[in-house]
Amino acid sequence: MAKRDYYEVLGVSKTASDTEIKSAFRKLAKQYHPDLNKDKDAPEKFKEVQEAYEVLSDPQKRKTYDQYGHSAFDQNGNAQGFGGFSSGFSGFGFDDIDLSDILSGVFGQGFGFGSSSKSKTNRSQKGNDVLYELKLSFMEAVFGCTKDITLDVYEKCDGCDGKGGHGETTCSRCHGSGTITEESRTMFGSFVSKTTCPECNGKGKTYKEICSQCKGTGKVRKRKTISVTVPAGVSTGQQVRIKEKGEAGINGGPNGDVYVEFNVEEHEIFKREDNDIYMQLPINIVEATLGCKKEVPLMKESIILNIPEGTQNGDKHRIKGKGVPYVNSNKIGDLYITIKVVIPTKLDKKQKELFNELSKTDLDNNNDFIKKFKKFFKR
Ligand SMILES: [Zn+2]
Ligand SMILES: [Zn+2]
Repeated sequence: MAKRDYYEVLGVSKTASDTEIKSAFRKLAKQYHPDLNKDKDAPEKFKEVQEAYEVLSDPQKRKTYDQYGHSAFDQNGNAQGFGGFSSGFSGFGFDDIDLSDILSGVFGQGFGFGSSSKSKTNRSQKGNDVLYELKLSFMEAVFGCTKDITLDVYEKCDGCDGKGGHGETTCSRCHGSGTITEESRTMFGSFVSKTTCPECNGKGKTYKEICSQCKGTGKVRKRKTISVTVPAGVSTGQQVRIKEKGEAGINGGPNGDVYVEFNVEEHEIFKREDNDIYMQLPINIVEATLGCKKEVPLMKESIILNIPEGTQNGDKHRIKGKGVPYVNSNKIGDLYITIKVVIPTKLDKKQKELFNELSKTDLDNNNDFIKKFKKFFKR
């Protein structure tokens, strides 16, 4: 089908001012908006109006259109190479005109594009999810634990079983449909619009007596304690979902969920990197020089680590399978021990004598690095 001239679509002359174009668009947008106009070809017409306005309201695009006509644009009215304007009824690119603003006068309440004007309120809906931040100690995260958390959430009111009142009757205003159909006359013509029934808030029924416990809302705020099983190996930012422990659903819908997000504390000795653990082990110079068997407290149990003779500062030992478990798996990370040789800073008289005695011996004889160093400076 051949495209109609954009000026013709908006019903304005080729010399129309911006104001004339805008006002023509407002008028036609109301006339053809698919939520207002149920004619079969209204969506197509509305799209055409939208497209014409998109081009003619933009001085640059209008100029291009005047020069080259439709061939300069793609089928959505975007200048070739422009982009950014989505077709359909939800993606409006106009920044100086707000259609929902224009149309709210007709509907009397908030109005969203793309949504139908059908009442939503008597549909059953899932309750809101709740996010809870749970602080864990380092070890609780590594080995898992069970924790009780206390939440304040809206739960179904027991007094009325969530209905909001007693003595249910069909709403006399909307006869149970939950919506009211009204014909309104405006300067643009008359429209048939559907709104949520204000009498029953879309429920379709009213109550002889409003529940005193929940004041008709069907929900009450309750403090509840739930138990959270923290799997071994979790880390900061990870979440567990506890199904249907969140806020009460609406109109019989299921409860929302509780998302527990972990925040794990650091540890003085153990540093965690994913599922591996890093720690430093301080030993003295005698232990490093002569070697020793050293008891090392790991996260759970102690092990005896064999420190070989001549251990250097920074030497590493890997202890397999003593790291952090992978969540929901049998796999366990490793633990890395870095040796930190501590040089004594305070010696008593006896110790000093022993060091002096030691200094008379050749301690450098079998160290390759010291040999190289000495040789270089002998030049
Ligand atoms: Zn109640
Ligand atoms: Zn009603």
